[in-house]
Amino acid sequence: MDETLERHEFGAEVGRLLDLVVHALYSEREIFLRELVANAADAVDRRRFEALSDQALMLPAEAKLRIVPDKAARTLTIADPGIGMSKSELAQHLGTIARSGTLAFAKTLAEAKATEQPSLIGQFGVGFYSAFMVADRVEVTSRRAGGEEAWVWASEGRGEYTLAPGSKAEPGTDIVLHMKADAEEFLEPYRLQTIIRKWADHIAIPITVARDGQ
Ligand code: ADP
Ligand code: MG
Repeated sequence: MDETLERHEFGAEVGRLLDLVVHALYSEREIFLRELVANAADAVDRRRFEALSDQALMLPAEAKLRIVPDKAARTLTIADPGIGMSKSELAQHLGTIARSGTLAFAKTLAEAKATEQPSLIGQFGVGFYSAFMVADRVEVTSRRAGGEEAWVWASEGRGEYTLAPGSKAEPGTDIVLHMKADAEEFLEPYRLQTIIRKWADHIAIPITVARDGQ
């Protein structure tokens, strides 16, 4: 038993939202990538903003978002050099629904007819938890810019998540999705490129999709 591993329950509303998101739609699963890339881009913007008053946080010139599929391991990694999250930020941002918009959305979704749910999700954006549409385990390793420590948040999307100390050479966040057996299409670099091209035009940092396993 790893004594440094902490177990935490999700807030009740997270459990409900996860259930809805994971079961409400199948055909629009690709939006998970839009959501995770949007979060990564937001994190980079925040780092750029904080760097205005603290030079030590400056983004390296070659900084980019990396999307790395690995078919052998059946993982998809989304890595950003953004602001990162401290231990308490991981617990707060990924363990509860802090956004009032998400809460309202969860309520609307719960009250909608099953046939209307997919379009609602497309309309609102469901955020981080959409990762569980395609992954049965999600590991987030993050290091807050300006800090030295890294923490690993992990969950199978079923009521609880864990937090454990980790290590990371640079600030930012690596999200590792352990893909469901029926979501292997999202390990195809070409498929990933196509999804990204659809809506990542406005992202103000280069995005690379690695060839399998590289
Ligand atoms: P939203 O992006 O609308 O706030 P999300 O569910 O997508 O909602 O994400 C919740 C929060 O988790 C974000 O607001 C942010 O604080 C944090 N977060 C998610 N992904 C990242 C990331 N890659 N880097 C830093 N913080 C992140
Ligand atoms: Mg988001």
